[in-house]
Amino acid sequence: MTSSPTSVDQQRRLLTAIPGPRSQELHARKEAAVSSGVGVGLPAYVERAGGGILVDVDGNHLIDFGSGIAVTTVGNAAPAVVEGVARQAADFTHTCFMVSPYEEYVAVCEELAELTPGEASTKRSALFNSGAEAVENAVKVARTFTGRSAVVAFDHAYHGRTNLTMALTAKSMPYKHGFGPFANEVYRAPMAYPLRWPGSPERCAEESFQAFVDMLHAQVGETSCAAVVIEPIQGEGGFIVPPEGWLRMVADYCTEHGILLIADEIQTGFCRTGDWFACDREGVVPDLITTAKGIAGGLPLAAVTGRAEVMDSVHSGGLGGTYGGNPVACAAALGAIRTMKEQDLCGRAREVEALFLPRLEALRSKYDVVADIRGRGAMLAIELTAGAGDLTPNPTATAAINKHCHSQGLVTLTCGTFGNVFRFLPPLSSPDHLLSEGLDLIDEAFAAVLG
Ligand SMILES: *Cc1c(COP(=O)(O)O)cnc(C)c1O
Repeated sequence: MTSSPTSVDQQRRLLTAIPGPRSQELHARKEAAVSSGVGVGLPAYVERAGGGILVDVDGNHLIDFGSGIAVTTVGNAAPAVVEGVARQAADFTHTCFMVSPYEEYVAVCEELAELTPGEASTKRSALFNSGAEAVENAVKVARTFTGRSAVVAFDHAYHGRTNLTMALTAKSMPYKHGFGPFANEVYRAPMAYPLRWPGSPERCAEESFQAFVDMLHAQVGETSCAAVVIEPIQGEGGFIVPPEGWLRMVADYCTEHGILLIADEIQTGFCRTGDWFACDREGVVPDLITTAKGIAGGLPLAAVTGRAEVMDSVHSGGLGGTYGGNPVACAAALGAIRTMKEQDLCGRAREVEALFLPRLEALRSKYDVVADIRGRGAMLAIELTAGAGDLTPNPTATAAINKHCHSQGLVTLTCGTFGNVFRFLPPLSSPDHLLSEGLDLIDEAFAAVLG
């Protein structure tokens, strides 16, 4: 069991209804000042956080099963992150790496070369501010290297909210609705989604791979395709885990046709799935890998990493940005990565999986709306359907269970193309007793909603 030293008391404690009166006041101010286009899942305003707890402005201690969407993997205000940020902010806050460079940027790229799949000495990286920006830049690099323009993404994919990444993202509401026209030369292939593969889950890998190959051949043309972009385990689309072997087939196919494989590990990376990167599980080495979220303990940082011949194919000055690889964000990343190594957070993610899975399986045997339990490491989910062999998505029960958890001081999230996936992304700094208590609250929520 791992837990970071934190001054935040590691106990759930409810002093008011959730959200409490001070949160409600702040929320009224939010509604008067912040665009309603920026939604809030649970309007309990946070004052402090650490370990596995978020403390709100009414003094409630909430259990965190979301990590700010897989970001605070090392915990909130993790000591090494705080120390790095404070030291770096006192030294200097910005120069723009392209104007006056600094060591921290280089050190993060060295860590990325060492930690991402493939031989370290052959890799180069470039740093950016957000996941979407990393994906955009990976596509830019792939187009330059291959001299081709088409990009293939999958059903249920999520790659961000900028124009090109909206085009790559599959789900319309809320990510794309009304925001088109989108970037062109983006094509979509069927995802290997075992639960929903027509016919049988056993044939999902082979048949969905063949459907991908057929689509690419007929609608794109192999020699026009620059890259295939893939989340090794899909995030926002529903924590969809393709069958073992499928990723390898896609990777081999790309190699054979001179197409670059871009692994979007923005959500799955940095220990979340029990390995440094989800590709590690099958020994797949993507041509390019995008990272963000867990990389810097909550500071905005993202990266594209790939083989030197690919990354260096871009003309000098072709990649960059004012803030990309900001020194404070880089110092945070170096602290976060050190924490992951020292505390073996990959091992911790596997412990979290071992703690969660039997509890989630117990729900499956009790409620027939639980159609699937899936995920890996500390990235786990339940898919809810109408029940009794009927795969009609059940977003109503999913939302009600999620809301019930919130009312009890457990911060949970939903996802999925059909809004029917209840997902768990606890910080790896959370002690076992909070994880167990969170699972008890989930049991209670299922009982309260489903009877
Ligand atoms: C969150 C996410 C992104 C976008 O990252 P932002 O930092 O929000 O731009 C892209 N890809 C995946 C897989 C993600 O989970």
